[in-house]
Amino acid sequence: MPDLPDKRTAFIDWYLAVVEAADLTDKRYPVKGLNVWPVYGMAARRNFDRVLVREIEATGSHAVEFPALIPETEFAKEKEHIKGFDAQVYWVTKGGSTDLDTKLVLRPTSETAMYPVFALWVRSHRDLPLNVYQIVNVFRYETKTTRPFLRDREIHFFEEHTCQANEDHATERVRSNRGAFERMAHAFALPYLAIRRPEWDKFPGAYYSIGLDIPLGEARTLQIGTVHHYRENFSRPYGIQYEDADGSQKFVHQTTFGISGRLLGAVVAVHGDQKGVVFPTELAPYEVVVIPIPNAAAGDAPERAAGEIAERLRRHGRRVHLDDGEERPGAKYFRWELGGVPLRLEVGRREAEGRTVSATDRLGRKSSFPLDRLEHEVDQRLGEFDRALRERAAEVFRTSFEVARSITELAGSTRVRLIGWCGDEACGHAIERGIDGALLGTPEDPLPFEVGPVGPCVACAKTDGVRWAVASQPM
Ligand SMILES: [Zn+2]
Repeated sequence: MPDLPDKRTAFIDWYLAVVEAADLTDKRYPVKGLNVWPVYGMAARRNFDRVLVREIEATGSHAVEFPALIPETEFAKEKEHIKGFDAQVYWVTKGGSTDLDTKLVLRPTSETAMYPVFALWVRSHRDLPLNVYQIVNVFRYETKTTRPFLRDREIHFFEEHTCQANEDHATERVRSNRGAFERMAHAFALPYLAIRRPEWDKFPGAYYSIGLDIPLGEARTLQIGTVHHYRENFSRPYGIQYEDADGSQKFVHQTTFGISGRLLGAVVAVHGDQKGVVFPTELAPYEVVVIPIPNAAAGDAPERAAGEIAERLRRHGRRVHLDDGEERPGAKYFRWELGGVPLRLEVGRREAEGRTVSATDRLGRKSSFPLDRLEHEVDQRLGEFDRALRERAAEVFRTSFEVARSITELAGSTRVRLIGWCGDEACGHAIERGIDGALLGTPEDPLPFEVGPVGPCVACAKTDGVRWAVASQPM
């Protein structure tokens, strides 16, 4: 297997090579942008989903599933929404050879599938809040170059949709979603910024949108999730009303929270290196791989010890792979480094005789420990590995941003730029032309690093109401 392209100088080539070499995806399916999930990639995806489900359900959300096909009549009810998605939807127009009376949209997102039914489910203030989510595939006809996970036409998608009694409760739900995302990002060891999108870039039909963005080297960023507040923008056209305690009829306020398989691509892109993928423990298809090192003088002692290790760790609840195949150990190390396994355990003659284990984590740190402390030592090393991965990512994150004090400084940016922005749309577009990218918006929280006071708007030099904003080249 040839070396991977250089991650620093040929990032996209490196990314495309690594997701295939590590068997996370098979993009040889004969439709562009639709990829196969092979066994190893599917295992990572199931771990990914498990974290999302755990964290969202901890906030009082429940799983549902709605149909993939949406009638045109429902899809068209919210005008901004249909305008925003019109160019991206797949249509189903025939059943067999018969033209359908009502054309059907293959869901690009599920507002318009769910909300006519929410109108039937929500009757009284006692039905609120309604917090439900689904993990399904959605379809968007991407016209830009497709890339596995980062930009697909069939997307693995988590979407939460909620109905709240009023605007404050909906704002509270947005906050709760952000807390859930913080815990998901912690599990995946991914630092990110929550950024309020400018008016012209919010979700079609939303009151406001918060993008969850990560830097991906040079001036690039990737949106890995979104949280939206809809106010009554959808509940009015879809008639989602309830009777309040005082007998009055009110429209619900709604929120949504979306995360896609892009987040998996982000994990590969942020943590991966020249040897391949680096999975945080929670995502790894195998947390530990155990490799016996055959030795003629040791008989089958290394194999027996490796078998015991794998069995004990499995009983301890770890995802373990015992690689006792015929290949030489070097080839096995290579494969499991490429696949991003956090911890590799080896047992040769010396270890088998001394009842010890040699360990190497995916960041290359070596150690050994007595076999009788196996479970404890493995737990400790995996915890330490995740901490180190988080710190390494945080360091790269901090160095990914650079302040720009003028529009001309934006040209040829090699970092994500922080700029002063007055909030004016014309200034926003001038900034976007300057960086040849997008004004992502204004960070929701104080920046997690020291940047000093904000200067005047880089476009108009006004100082009134100026805030830090983020400009980048989104992927
Ligand atoms: Zn301005």
